[in-house]
Amino acid sequence: MSAILGTYARRSISFSHGKGCYLYSTNDEKYLDFVSGIAVNSLGHCHDHLVQTIKNQAEKLWHVSNAFEIPEQEKLAQRLVENTFADHVIFMNSGAEATEASIKIARKYFFEKGKPEKNRIITFKGAFHGRTLASLFAANNPEHIKGFGPTVDGFDQVDFGDHDALKKAINKNTAAVMVESILGEGGIKVIPEQCLVGLRKLCDENDLLLILDEVQCGIGRSGKFFAFEWSGIKPDIVPIAKGIGGGFPIGACLVNQKAASGMKPGTHGSTFGGNPLAMSIGNSVLDIIFEKGFLDNVVKQGNYLQSELIKIKERFPNILEEVRGKGLLRGIKLKVDNVEFLNKLFENKMLAVKASENVIRLLPPLIISKQEVDEAISIIEKVCQSFK
Ligand code: PLP
Repeated sequence: MSAILGTYARRSISFSHGKGCYLYSTNDEKYLDFVSGIAVNSLGHCHDHLVQTIKNQAEKLWHVSNAFEIPEQEKLAQRLVENTFADHVIFMNSGAEATEASIKIARKYFFEKGKPEKNRIITFKGAFHGRTLASLFAANNPEHIKGFGPTVDGFDQVDFGDHDALKKAINKNTAAVMVESILGEGGIKVIPEQCLVGLRKLCDENDLLLILDEVQCGIGRSGKFFAFEWSGIKPDIVPIAKGIGGGFPIGACLVNQKAASGMKPGTHGSTFGGNPLAMSIGNSVLDIIFEKGFLDNVVKQGNYLQSELIKIKERFPNILEEVRGKGLLRGIKLKVDNVEFLNKLFENKMLAVKASENVIRLLPPLIISKQEVDEAISIIEKVCQSFK
């Protein structure tokens, strides 16, 4: 019996080390990693620049309280502001905390504007925003909320893609709409660019804030720094996490001037959020992601992966139903059982992860090369053949 609380059905394998797109198991096997800690290891495993940063910073300073100025935090916030829609950033440690902060910021904005009745947030079926109580009930996944009542109120949910239902759900109590620019756990469902444009317009017309959860699809994974950038719109609040730390726990909430206006000293905080060790790593992740050509490689390898997957789909129409996604956030909707498919990938030394709607997710490190994409494609093809 494990001493660990049994909240995960784990595969019985552990890893001793990793480099780039590969993980090495304690029983001396090499695996091609298309999980990346679920979109976390954006620069792959043990990237030299991050290893150097963590070593250097570990000898200088790990943690000081947010009661003091933290130059590394100021630097990371400044770089995020200069390169995105945001005017301010608040740091936390995880995605759930970042979405939770987004909810608080939206409610506080209207409260301070003298409209405390505007405190409800519209969310979408199939969403995932984390496991804290508010983020759990925001997504309202029946499997996830079961047994965790009483319900956290303040969310109104509509079907993904149902424009009429969305319009009908808006009332005098609505403060914001919250949605992932690309639904990750929900099955790699990309919100079409024109729908994001329409959503921004709808929010403006109804005095609502737009919260785009980029915890999974942000930080370069779609081929742009943020996935919503493909549509040209600007949201008001964006929670991020995962890829910004490259494997070190960092969460953050990016906010424009308007949405930030309700937040004053004492309205939110985090003991660990934004400490010097985390911030130095976040800055080093950005050093690489902001390098000229880095995102071009994500687009290039992502397009190549997509086109090769489409070829496999054409060859195996009874196995692959649909290929979805953007950049290096790809999903394959299968006609065969996704868990069986994942098990077969694993037998062939490739790691991937499932999502809703019988999808498998492919989330390789963003530093992936064509050769490594080819390796993945040939394994996927071999697995398809084994189903015949
Ligand atoms: N939001 C999205 C879109 C996510 O994919 C996740 C995690 O998978 C979260 C929020 C929660 O992040 P965390 O597990 O770091 O709390």
